[in-house]
Amino acid sequence: MKKRSIPYVVIAKQHRPLKRKLLRAITRVMERGDFVLGKEVEECEKKVAAYCKVKFAVGVNSGTDALFFALKAHGIGAGDEVITAPNSFLSSASVIAAAGAKPVFADVGEDMNIDPEKIKSVITSRTKAIIPVHLTGKPADMNPILAIAREKGLYVIEDAAQAMGAEYHKKKVGSLGHVGCFSLHPLKTFNACGDGGLITTNDKRLYQRFLQLRNIGLKNRDEADQWGYNSRLDTIQAAILLVKLAYLEKWIEKRRKNAALYNVLLKDMSSIIRLPHDNPEEKSVYHTFIIQTPLRDKLQKALLKAGVETKIHYPIPIHLQKAAAYLGYKKGDFPECERQAQMILSLPIYPELTKSDIRFTASTIKTFYAHSSLSL
Ligand SMILES: *Cc1c(COP(=O)(O)O)cnc(C)c1O
Repeated sequence: MKKRSIPYVVIAKQHRPLKRKLLRAITRVMERGDFVLGKEVEECEKKVAAYCKVKFAVGVNSGTDALFFALKAHGIGAGDEVITAPNSFLSSASVIAAAGAKPVFADVGEDMNIDPEKIKSVITSRTKAIIPVHLTGKPADMNPILAIAREKGLYVIEDAAQAMGAEYHKKKVGSLGHVGCFSLHPLKTFNACGDGGLITTNDKRLYQRFLQLRNIGLKNRDEADQWGYNSRLDTIQAAILLVKLAYLEKWIEKRRKNAALYNVLLKDMSSIIRLPHDNPEEKSVYHTFIIQTPLRDKLQKALLKAGVETKIHYPIPIHLQKAAAYLGYKKGDFPECERQAQMILSLPIYPELTKSDIRFTASTIKTFYAHSSLSL
């Protein structure tokens, strides 16, 4: 029998059926030549704003820049503190330091998202903003976070990099806080063929700041009131995104179906494996499908041996990175985040995955635990 091969993700499979449409879209831009801030950039911004049900969207060069501009537009810098989760991708915290402010972490709950109660305990007179992360594509519990922010006068930036299309109480992420930040990195659920990012907001003043920040500070062809950066979404990437946007809901549904099938197949393992699930008020987009389980490293090896590639998002909590050493955190400061870092494993979940791939992965996991006589 031929050995199974289930890669963690295969981007080419997403592009194969769209190839003609994508090439036509790219060719149109090539023939016009408006590569920088061209027609499709504005069209993509309008469509994404409508999709997220916000007034404004601004295309930038990456999700990281989206977060950085969200901080800069609010004037956050030296002497300020910004609270975020320690289990995210590095950017959620690195942008705070890049803006000159101090990253402050609050531990996460069992669902891997920031725990609102823990946010309360780290607020100081210097706290200016909170960056909740919708990790794995599952919305953070925004109502209590927004209530804390209102009470303390804090600015809320949603790190929705992994979560385009996710919903919380029927509202799209990116429309819940003051600002929403999306990554269009090729591995994200809504993705470009290269780097890209989007910022969403209902605030006109912030919107105008974002337009200037991404374009060297220019407010028209020749004048600038403030310094800015060069961080524009490429017209070619915007043209690609417009093609893909038409498929986004279908891809999200497929990811959710894949997650539901894993859940059915692994249900009887629930004493050993913690499975992700949606609460009734949420719609997760399953950017990742992360199980939490003991013997994680051995399981990962067994899966790989059987041909199933998995990943760990993320193995090193941000507060334990060398880059964060000056902040003075130590092991044990965020026990839930640190416990999860030892237990988490991301299974393949991409839309093109077949039922048979999922069944094979689930049965490999079951066989592994049946033979490992768990000494839990
Ligand atoms: C991917 C990601 C980012 C950064 O986005 P880039 O487009 O790669 O800069 C930020 N936060 C989270 C949670 C991410 O997953």
